[in-house]
Amino acid sequence: MDSTRRDRLLWIVLLPAVLVAVGVLAYFNVRTTLQLDKLRQQSVLESTLALANEKADRLDKRIITEDNTIIAIADPAALSELTERWVPTAQRETPTVRAILMLDEAHDVLAFASRAGGAWGEEEEFRRLLVRRLLSDMDLASQPLDELRHLHREYNGQSYLVSFWQKLSGGRHYILVAWHDIGRIVKDTLPSLFTELPVAGQSGPPSRVNVVDEENRIIYGPPLRSGEFTVGVRFPTTLYNWRLQVSPAASEELATRVQSRKTLELVFVTLSCIVIVAGVATILLGVEKQRRINALKTEFVANVSHELKTPLALVRMFGEMLQSGRVANDDKRKEYLDIIVHESERLSNLIENVLDFAKVERGRGAYEFASGDVADVVVRAAQVLKYRAERENVTIDVDVKESLPPCRIDERALQLAVINLIDNAIKYGKSPHDGDGSVIRVSAAKGAAGVAIRVVDEGPGIAAAEQARIFERFVRGSSSRDSKAGSPVRGSGIGLALVKHIAESHGGTASVESQPGKGSAFVVTIPFES
Ligand code: ADP
Repeated sequence: MDSTRRDRLLWIVLLPAVLVAVGVLAYFNVRTTLQLDKLRQQSVLESTLALANEKADRLDKRIITEDNTIIAIADPAALSELTERWVPTAQRETPTVRAILMLDEAHDVLAFASRAGGAWGEEEEFRRLLVRRLLSDMDLASQPLDELRHLHREYNGQSYLVSFWQKLSGGRHYILVAWHDIGRIVKDTLPSLFTELPVAGQSGPPSRVNVVDEENRIIYGPPLRSGEFTVGVRFPTTLYNWRLQVSPAASEELATRVQSRKTLELVFVTLSCIVIVAGVATILLGVEKQRRINALKTEFVANVSHELKTPLALVRMFGEMLQSGRVANDDKRKEYLDIIVHESERLSNLIENVLDFAKVERGRGAYEFASGDVADVVVRAAQVLKYRAERENVTIDVDVKESLPPCRIDERALQLAVINLIDNAIKYGKSPHDGDGSVIRVSAAKGAAGVAIRVVDEGPGIAAAEQARIFERFVRGSSSRDSKAGSPVRGSGIGLALVKHIAESHGGTASVESQPGKGSAFVVTIPFES
């Protein structure tokens, strides 16, 4: 398989494969990230929920413990002693219970023990509420005997919690009611249960807790933002119309952290994908560029071999003819000698170009700079090609300004650059209009920051699309393919690359201005000596 086909296969197979691989990688990465986040979130939620349940249970247990104490104290056989038996220990044992009532089956109050001490009006009100509303709401008929039950309800905008217990004693049906002091529960019990140290195994500040009623009004605690980490549970048996809400201490921070980590990971995945795709594209572009250079190099070798062989063969052929004495007359002899001189000139120019170019390619463009006059260099270069130009019926019109400021130059290299430009102007710049010959204008003049060397011809010019590329090594333009004579123009494609390299090594520039059909002007600028 040749290398072009291999490279193409590389493009066709590798690029889509890499893109698919990157896509799959990105997909799984993003999915895993999102799943992990969900898991983390879930585990935070689960532990918060467990905490909320545990706290709600704690209140229930506290109230039920008090209820059991009351049940133990309230003996139907000793109802007259109820107050004496209960009140002295009430503060310690049953702090949330405000009053105890014992009723019979007919709902008559048999005993009323209270800790209120004087708030008789309220107690009367409660007794009336009990008889009129609470007892029917308790739905006593469907409640089993000997089982503790609770009623949590709002009456006249006020919340009530009562525990009740039905029992048979001495053949009679009794109803024991414990009236809990909700104000006290909120003021004392809830803070004592919920304001506490951080939960075991959890570092940092404690979670925040509040209690809200059915309309979401806060009964206790601070307002909590209903974020994704705030959990609410009902109290299971006692204050069942209220909800306990728990929010991990750093819930807002947690939410922002989760969000920013998600964003960061997505950005990271996107960046990685971009880097991979850009990397692969760069490699493939590099491969493609290398392939183009290799093709150009092969062409270059073929060109140079041809360029070396042709003049050598001519020199040899005409040399042998002169040597054998088989020359008709002196004119012919002069013609043969001219050809030999012309071809050996070409040969030495080419060899110099190739050697300099090889030096540049190896990174050893060892130029030797010294203060010099650019005008001299330009005149000498024109001189070298004067005879050749004459032979080709081309006039070189040299116009250099007197006393140009000195520049730091490598005279030999700069002369080679100017020779290349004039050589090109001779090769390509013949006017397509007149066969009487054309003029090449070579000038050196003072510019804004340096000396500008211009080589202007009247040739076919260079298409705008080609103007930048012809300075690349091995690149030959369309003018090299179709000369005026119809045959390709001989060349190697390294002349202008060398000119550019020499100009830039001097701190200057090499450029071309051309209008197809109207000729070209190559300009090399060399900065003044500072
Ligand atoms: P070569 O002359 O060996 O092909 P160069 O690097 O000197 O290589 O030139 C590159 C290409 O630039 C040439 O092949 C030619 O197409 C174009 N070129 C250079 N000088 C001229 C010019 N004066 N007029 C038109 N085309 C030119």
